[in-house]
Amino acid sequence: LPTSIGFIGLGIMGRPMATNLARKLPPDAKIHVHDVVATATEQFYTVFPDMVVKCANAKEVTEKSDIIITMLPEGAHVKSVYLDAATGVLAALSSPTPESAPKLFIDSSTIDTASHLHVKAQLHAHSPSSLFYDAPVSGGVLGAENGTVAFFLGCSASDHNVPRLTSLLQTMGGQVIPCGGPSLGLAAKLSNNYLSGIITVACAEAMDMGMRAGIDPPVLASVFAAGTAQNRICDTFNPVPGLCPKAPSSNGYQGGFRVQLMRKDIGLAVDMARRVGARNILGATGLGIYAAASDATDCRDLDSRVVYRYLGGRED
Ligand code: NAD
Repeated sequence: LPTSIGFIGLGIMGRPMATNLARKLPPDAKIHVHDVVATATEQFYTVFPDMVVKCANAKEVTEKSDIIITMLPEGAHVKSVYLDAATGVLAALSSPTPESAPKLFIDSSTIDTASHLHVKAQLHAHSPSSLFYDAPVSGGVLGAENGTVAFFLGCSASDHNVPRLTSLLQTMGGQVIPCGGPSLGLAAKLSNNYLSGIITVACAEAMDMGMRAGIDPPVLASVFAAGTAQNRICDTFNPVPGLCPKAPSSNGYQGGFRVQLMRKDIGLAVDMARRVGARNILGATGLGIYAAASDATDCRDLDSRVVYRYLGGRED
């Protein structure tokens, strides 16, 4: 494992991922961190004071690290962190010393593929030897805390960096799946969230329908688990409160995957579907539901499974 690593974006996902990474690095390793929110870096520093180096910006992180991981909200943030001429990654790459080793960048943010490819092209133009991979994650906050998130890697299985990337990413997660080529990790992640977002809406409607017909919610959930409708949303993240004790729905929809993030991901997936000529009838409907729930006062900022409430599901 590397001894000089950078981590930019210590939010809901980034902090637990960086925590798992720090626990597995050799004791003499350094993690150079940056987040625009100073308390985010401060809190992380407090846990690993001997290992963490707080940096003023992405430029400083890049100068001090061999491998840099980014975990940011959207494409605009990724572009600014990498491409800002004064404080970004590029500023550190613009004048590399002759002996400086090629840097490896891994972006785990869920963003649009065009932004990723734009950043990749810019990095390559300034520093042809540097490497830039998309590796978005799935598994939510619990997966990040437990170190079980799956990584969808934007390269082919035969890329000679896969073993090195896999051993690094597995300090923070479980499965690492090479998806074929640059930006295809993101395409896979958006396809995954398209499906899980639509399943959530279908689960919310089907649960509500069966319950209104008179079936006890636990009985209905066990029917879905035994029948052809079986899926992980119903089994583990059922949107009906009280069915899965650890699910956000059983805790007032607190924590979990914010409804605004699902709106973002389905929006990106629908854009991708249009670009590649795929039909997205359910996506367009789902996007409308998540967009409206994101704006509703009793749903916004809550876990995405709150669409059950938005759709009028019974919570008694
Ligand atoms: P978050 O908003 O909690 O964290 C993002 C962090 O990036 C914040 O701490 C923010 O201050 C920091 N940041 C923003 N702009 C920055 C900049 N210019 N420079 C430095 N730091 C900056 O978001 P999150 O929930 O951790 O999600 C991060 C990404 O992971 C998103 O793309 C999201 O879609 C994806 N994701 C989230 C989940 C989830 O359950 N939350 C699950 C899988 C994937």
